[in-house]
Amino acid sequence: MPEYICSECGKRYPIEPFLYLCPECSKKQKENEPLHGVLLVSPDQEQFERFRKVGDPLSLLPVEREHFPDIPVGNTPLFHSKNLSEYTGFKNLYIKNDTLNPTGSLKDRASYLVSGFARKMGIEEIMLASTGNAASSMAGIGASAGQKITIFVPEDAPEAKLVQCRQYGADVKVVPGDYDRAYSLALEYADKQRALSRNTAHNPLTIDGKKTVSIEIFLQMGRMPENVFVPVGDGVIIAGVYRGFEDVVNAGLSSRMPKIFGVQAEGSDGICRIYETGSFEYRKPSTIADSISVGIPRNGYLAAGFLKKYKGECIRVSDDEILKAQIILSQKTGVFAEPSAAASLAGFLKVKERISGNESVVLLITGSGLKDIKSAKRALERFG
Ligand SMILES: *Cc1c(COP(=O)(O)O)cnc(C)c1O
Repeated sequence: MPEYICSECGKRYPIEPFLYLCPECSKKQKENEPLHGVLLVSPDQEQFERFRKVGDPLSLLPVEREHFPDIPVGNTPLFHSKNLSEYTGFKNLYIKNDTLNPTGSLKDRASYLVSGFARKMGIEEIMLASTGNAASSMAGIGASAGQKITIFVPEDAPEAKLVQCRQYGADVKVVPGDYDRAYSLALEYADKQRALSRNTAHNPLTIDGKKTVSIEIFLQMGRMPENVFVPVGDGVIIAGVYRGFEDVVNAGLSSRMPKIFGVQAEGSDGICRIYETGSFEYRKPSTIADSISVGIPRNGYLAAGFLKKYKGECIRVSDDEILKAQIILSQKTGVFAEPSAAASLAGFLKVKERISGNESVVLLITGSGLKDIKSAKRALERFG
């Protein structure tokens, strides 16, 4: 049986609804800091065997296929762009286009697993706090599965994401204040209602669902890439990316891990600071890239730990660099990404002199530009 394993103390637990964090390590939790006792899913040997045989990333998830929602998620294209290669001088440069998920962002990978798990456990309501994409994702995937979705969003979330949630029929509660406030309110609500929490990092399945993206990258390339660029806010996507590559290694299909570059906005760089100093200090976030704008990166300790363990790098980009990269990506590749997703390219452009032009590079493009037209217009006014 797959199990939960605590990322801090290594203790194992059965996978159960309403068990979110390691009961031991979460005792250390202080207010206004990243989560302690984040749990990881550990697949069993049978799953690794099945994966080796059939090469299906879903076989490494802790929910059987019959429970998943009808709408297909993942299996997004990985492609080489000649224009971007010429522009950057990198022959082996690839785009993993996760804007092509059903609700327009990589978050669908996590919603898909959480939705399937809720169905498997007979839970009818799922709730979460989100700056937008996790909310619209859970709303859409939940709609496909016929589940009740309750969402707490900060008042400054981009309009398209809110409209998207309401289109899908979710109960949207707009919270005065920021994402951190919405996060706490959502947890209070979940306790009262016995709804399943899809708060990012809090529910271990939000990390595990996202690992399918890196397993797909490995399968599509037929080998481990050398460098992968990942935008980082709460640090859940990057942890999922590491977990997926770890699964590939644990399945015996590769002997090495890629080098991963976590890319943060200068005005929301909590994980870079944990990585550099070993400790967390709250700072009010400020960046145009709303999906990576977080004051308390919920998965900050785990994400920084992975970067350390595998000798990754955490880099910062300015809002101007992000908006410029958004336009370059649109015009060189045809992929219109939201600012947070364009941060991958901004990060790559910033450090590419330090990478050998022969190495393979994958840019993870996490969300669609149509989700935040205001920022895209601003990019055109400034750099178009
Ligand atoms: C959520 C999100 C991110 C950041 O992911 P984290 O898990 O918060 O680090 C990046 N890009 C997009 C489009 C997102 O929706």
